[in-house]
Amino acid sequence: MQLLDGKAISSQIKSEIKTEVEQWVATGGKKPHLAAILVGQDGASETYVASKIRSCEEIGFTSTLLRFEADITEEKLLEAVESLNNDPDVDGFIVQLPLPKHISENTVMEAVNPAKDVDGFHPINVGRMCKGLPAYISATPFGILEMLTRAGIETSGKHCVVIGRSQIVGLPMSILMQRNTYPGNATVTITHSKTQNLKEICQSADILIVALGRPEFVKADYVKEGAVVVDVGITRVADATKKSGFSIKGDVDFNDVAPKASFITPVPGGVGLMTICGLLTNTFKAAKKEIYK
Ligand code: NAP
Repeated sequence: MQLLDGKAISSQIKSEIKTEVEQWVATGGKKPHLAAILVGQDGASETYVASKIRSCEEIGFTSTLLRFEADITEEKLLEAVESLNNDPDVDGFIVQLPLPKHISENTVMEAVNPAKDVDGFHPINVGRMCKGLPAYISATPFGILEMLTRAGIETSGKHCVVIGRSQIVGLPMSILMQRNTYPGNATVTITHSKTQNLKEICQSADILIVALGRPEFVKADYVKEGAVVVDVGITRVADATKKSGFSIKGDVDFNDVAPKASFITPVPGGVGLMTICGLLTNTFKAAKKEIYK
């Protein structure tokens, strides 16, 4: 079994971007600027945003954090989105999800200028990705592709099973894995909560991508000998032995599954760190106007 080590790969990618940014700025390019909107005080969201901002500082980006109380109206939030759309210094921005229930995430995502939508959630970016046109690919699927590429994992002709069909992970992942390119050309099965015989389907997967949000759901009997297992899940589980009061669990029971896998991602230290690299890569592309002129 080989570990797909998100910590090592992401630190390599960040150092590559840092070098490229230094060269870009030295030759007169604009320092990339990522802004983030954070609504409310959700602990996990706070951690993710803090980590994104810290990563920007590490690699020489400018970053801005806009914070709002959980009771902000949708109208006020849309005004904040519009102000970032119109701010010429901001190359890209994200609205950290989830949003409070009284705000429509779809409405907010559609209000973001696609050229600044570095999370890749806007329907225009999703549509362009589906058509194989240049687009911001959402950060988590982007990070997973990068992991597969850097580990040299063969995907062509393989059976890839994706558990979960969310708009931010499962759905784009399934589309990307079937593209006529590398990584891609896989035969993809996308599964969800109504799927029958999930375990049997997973047992035939050469590449199993798990994103359902249920800690340690996938056990060894779901996994074929030699499969590549990518665990996207991140759930905080109460743990009295930790100072924080919780530990982070993936959707895969790592200790049970690892002996059968050829490659596997740990949680923490796997896909989560790669997601940030996807966001940073997209932001640098935005600063260079690589996708939208
Ligand atoms: P989500 O929007 O809640 O979607 C979960 C998906 O899993 C849904 O499609 C659901 O099916 C399916 N599902 C739920 N129970 C199932 C079951 N028993 N069998 C088969 N499918 C089942 O979740 P998400 O946003 O994709 O996130 C999934 C996990 O990844 C979470 O733990 C999240 O925290 C984590 N995550 C991590 C990163 C990262 O950077 N590593 C990024 C994003 C998310 P239905 O559609 O039928 O409801």
